[in-house]
Amino acid sequence: MHVPFVDLSRAEREIHPTITGVIEDVVKNGNFILGPEVEAFEEEFARYCGVKRGVGVGSGTEALFLALRSVGVGPGDEVITAANTFIATFNAISLCGAVPVPVDAEPVYYCLDPERLEAAITRRTKAIVPVHLFGQSAEMDRIGQIAGEARLPVIEDSCQAHGAEYKGRKCGSMGDAGCFSFYPAKNLGAFGDAGIVVTDDGDISEKIALARNYGQRRKNEHLEVGFNMRLDEIQAAVLSVKLGQLDEMNASRQQAAGWYYEMLGDASGVTTPARRADGSTHIYHLFVALCPRRDDLRAFLDEKGVGTGIHYPTPPHLQPAYADLGYREGSFPVSEKLAAEMLSLPMFPGLTRDEVQFVCDGIAEHHAG
Ligand SMILES: *Cc1c(COP(=O)(O)O)cnc(C)c1O
Repeated sequence: MHVPFVDLSRAEREIHPTITGVIEDVVKNGNFILGPEVEAFEEEFARYCGVKRGVGVGSGTEALFLALRSVGVGPGDEVITAANTFIATFNAISLCGAVPVPVDAEPVYYCLDPERLEAAITRRTKAIVPVHLFGQSAEMDRIGQIAGEARLPVIEDSCQAHGAEYKGRKCGSMGDAGCFSFYPAKNLGAFGDAGIVVTDDGDISEKIALARNYGQRRKNEHLEVGFNMRLDEIQAAVLSVKLGQLDEMNASRQQAAGWYYEMLGDASGVTTPARRADGSTHIYHLFVALCPRRDDLRAFLDEKGVGTGIHYPTPPHLQPAYADLGYREGSFPVSEKLAAEMLSLPMFPGLTRDEVQFVCDGIAEHHAG
């Protein structure tokens, strides 16, 4: 048997004829930029998240950048975020001219540790960006409370949490704005790069709608210096079809996760990802286990025909790109330990019970040997 780390085409194959159909419609209509498909998807996705407005943009990075900018983040400001996030969260902050200020992860749920948040706030802090990492929400009640007391906007990085809930609320709907990526491998993925900002705040959505389109209100009327950071009509049409399947796809991932929890017992030597017990949901963008002998196990599984991933082997504060920030090994010990031990096991909609069994047998065999 061979179990790939990810195979997104498997569960999607059925809807591919529908998708090629809607792409063809866009091609026939010849309207490729800011037309009816983008408008419809913005409304559908905002409704799905339980918020008023959505503004389609070109990627998750652009969503984060434009959202941060819309709440006034600029040069010289500090923006607090999770130390163990994907590099793009840091990049979006840098793109504003601001400085990313990492806060270490809490070890159980892998998200920004609210207990360390207050200490990171300074006079220059302009926003907080919690990251709903791997498909499960950050501790939003506590983060929201601290942000509220400090009068700081919260911009959610929901790029890995499409449809995940925290105490009955959708990720992306709890802060001042929620930012999503539709990179093909996300739980809701386009056929290329795409993203969106969702918000209840009309001021934020208007600012972003202007900024993404050359600062243009009406044709040839440019109110401010803007950008070209738009969601394409073709991608919006694809996303509208796939949004209809998102809950089903997430449920399929949750079923596979259930098998992992069932089969990865104490004898496996690995720690399965913890789920919040407060009515929140995990949508398993990634199924990340902690493995003390990670690299060894990874090589062993590879030999057996099991694909795995590491998200992420080097945290942003230790990347050459952020050497300027002056952090060292040991600056964020929880994130660094996670980076050394995390292993992402095969996870995608349509993964079968037999495949999960094969992966778990391999892990048990490695542990016994
Ligand atoms: C994917 C991702 C992003 C960036 O999204 P792009 O569409 O690739 O720009 C940002 N943050 C997190 C946590 C992500 O997983």
